[in-house]
Amino acid sequence: MPDKGGKFERIALIGLGLIGSSIGWAAKRASLAKHITGYAKSQATRQTAKRLGFVDSVAATARDAAANADLVILCTPVGAYGALAQEIQPALKQGAIVSDVGSVKTAVLRDVGPFIPEGVHFIPAHPVAGTEYSGPESGFAALFDNRWCILTPPPGTDAKAVEKLTRFWQACGSNVDYMTPEHHDLVLAVTSHLPHLIAYNIVGTAADLEDVTQKEVIKYSASGFRDFTRIAASDPTMWRDIFLNNREAVLEMLGRFTEDLSALQRAIRWGDGEALFETFSRTRIIRKQIIDAGQDTAAPDFGRVNKP
Ligand code: NAP
Repeated sequence: MPDKGGKFERIALIGLGLIGSSIGWAAKRASLAKHITGYAKSQATRQTAKRLGFVDSVAATARDAAANADLVILCTPVGAYGALAQEIQPALKQGAIVSDVGSVKTAVLRDVGPFIPEGVHFIPAHPVAGTEYSGPESGFAALFDNRWCILTPPPGTDAKAVEKLTRFWQACGSNVDYMTPEHHDLVLAVTSHLPHLIAYNIVGTAADLEDVTQKEVIKYSASGFRDFTRIAASDPTMWRDIFLNNREAVLEMLGRFTEDLSALQRAIRWGDGEALFETFSRTRIIRKQIIDAGQDTAAPDFGRVNKP
């Protein structure tokens, strides 16, 4: 494969779950590092990572992992970032790039930014790719293929460092885009955070029902409910941290959502079929655009294999 850049001598992955392990696999697939080291909170995860082989070594502390790395990527839930940044600060090598994968970006700048020493490049990132699974065994090299990775470099960031991280993500299979952290948080509030909140809520509502049994909810779930349950099965720690750290943007989008929901409620109450039809037709077009952009499959039922 021709060298398109994005290679590092030593990469440190702090957090070895779905995203950390997928970065390890993707980096190995494209030979992007001479050595990948990793750190996760529990020894069990560190051992699993080493056994699976998406890292070459594991370190006993985050600081040890970061030492001598020329790319350090935080891959833990965002609530852990501040303490980790403080811990690794003394070990960071001059000229190293510190990045992350967090699903929110303004809070990352706030929590990590103050601990980045002079001469170290801080470039927050968010690979917009994932599954509802977590842990070191859930990762795979193709997770980022043809998905977007959004970089939010603070003003004045070294252009060469941004270019290098861009090439890294491209070599991992991603398309790369750039945004301010504030705009990122607004876009993701509507495309990711609000849908997760709605899914958590609707599955919670169904679980609390008294007149419809849980058995019935599960039995007839193919009528729509089960697609929400996939999203609502996402990691509770990660999602708690996202909502705590993107409060403003989520509340803004939730306000709009509630207004639109009230409009639909009103249309149903007053038998306004035209309003319902108009909304449902508009939303169909969005689905088509997502498929046309290669961000989902057009296969019926999301390509699920229907078992008899
Ligand atoms: P995950 O599978 O639950 O993995 C989290 C990892 O972080 C685990 O290895 C965990 O170690 C480690 N960890 C937690 N707290 C730590 C601490 N204080 N110090 C060191 N390690 C710690 O989570 P994930 O899905 O990979 O998500 C990681 C990040 O990616 C989050 O910030 C999330 O916002 C972002 N993200 C997720 C997705 C997605 O779809 N999942 C998509 C894009 C971005 P143990 O196993 O030892 O507990």
